[in-house]
Amino acid sequence: MEKKNTSPKGHSSHASSGKKTNAKKRQSDLFLHRLLIFILVALIALGGLTGCLFFLDKNGKLDHVKNRNSNLRSSSDKKGEYYNDTSRNSTKKPTETEDFDDWDWDDEDDAPYIEPKDDTDWDDWDIEDWGEDWGEDGGNDDYTPESESSKYTLPNDKKSDDLSGYTVILDPGHGGRDTGCVFPFNNPQYDECDFTLRIALRVKDELASRGATVYITRTDNSWVSLYNRLAQVHLICMDIAEKQGKLPFSSSRAAELRNMLQQSIDINEDTVASGGMGLMVGSGVGEDLEDLFKMEYELDNVIFLSIHLNSSESRTLHGTQAYYVTDDSVIESEHRQMRENSEFKRSDFPIRDDYYGRDNDSNYLLACCLYDNVVGNIPEFETNAHPVLADNYAVLREHGLTGVLLETAFLSDDNDRAMLQLDSTVDNIARSVGDGIKMYFIQSGI
Ligand SMILES: [Zn+2]
Repeated sequence: MEKKNTSPKGHSSHASSGKKTNAKKRQSDLFLHRLLIFILVALIALGGLTGCLFFLDKNGKLDHVKNRNSNLRSSSDKKGEYYNDTSRNSTKKPTETEDFDDWDWDDEDDAPYIEPKDDTDWDDWDIEDWGEDWGEDGGNDDYTPESESSKYTLPNDKKSDDLSGYTVILDPGHGGRDTGCVFPFNNPQYDECDFTLRIALRVKDELASRGATVYITRTDNSWVSLYNRLAQVHLICMDIAEKQGKLPFSSSRAAELRNMLQQSIDINEDTVASGGMGLMVGSGVGEDLEDLFKMEYELDNVIFLSIHLNSSESRTLHGTQAYYVTDDSVIESEHRQMRENSEFKRSDFPIRDDYYGRDNDSNYLLACCLYDNVVGNIPEFETNAHPVLADNYAVLREHGLTGVLLETAFLSDDNDRAMLQLDSTVDNIARSVGDGIKMYFIQSGI
């Protein structure tokens, strides 16, 4: 009996009626028990699915599903997660890659990989990972401006086009074997380097027509290494300082520096091993570079502007962004790279003390002035990403001029791209850059 009583319920066809009642009750209990377990499992599964969808959505992976009925940006998109009128105060970081296009190559694990059009050795670009784009979100929110939008827009009633007495060094991003970002990603029809050159040449004409002295780091679709560009900047500054009687070097020291800079131009490569980084190699700031910085800090009527386009894999971001550097944004990046980047472990890559001395405020002010005037003249370029951000771009980090890297618009955005192809937009960008630069000099009292 003991054995029978312990036999599986309902399997005992020989049980008494009392025992049958008991068995029915047990069956009922078992059914309820199983039902509860089923409901519990179903709830857990539903929770997991919801979590997955949320995760995919946060990472933009569902965008193609959401947007499958429309390739055009809708007004509701513009009011998306990262958009607000006072987004400069936002501390929210976009999850997409904001600017994998530039010098950022493939630093970011989740950055979209762009197939190079030629046989570029992408290993060559390792050093530019740390050199150009170092953050998953391409920026440091600690330096998000606090100003309200349009604060630095050049007012119409006080408008003055005159830029005589000022010098601008323009840097059209990419070129030659380096196309920059492309669109479409899998079969490029548009290269960033073509747009940046067209815009920069138009900006050059605009600034010159206002009386500014303008230099430009490339004038055709040729490859110009990053440190070639920077060496050009230093040499131009030495010439300007010399002309103004501000050259703080002996003639032999000046010749020595010029020789080192010319080597970077001649080598025209960005790797440590190539030697193309010249006196700019290594973290921190070496003695030669620091001497140049000090000279350039005195050239307060000279500014540097690198022109780029941005791209977003999820294609949800649009508009203009202005990047600048601060001591802290550079140092934070360098510390991170010391942990992660093998180039920092090379014997020919000097690791120096943290450098402090950049004119953080001027860089920030120029960034604000440029962003506000571009968006003031071209409202469609008001971005849903971060408008103004501190980062660690080498083209800004390795010289002492006040400088900005302008991500003019997103090549990956249909509306931005369509507008960039219009002469009227390029004219507007040039005018806006002129206004922004003018406003910077007014604001800084120079
Ligand atoms: Zn770029």
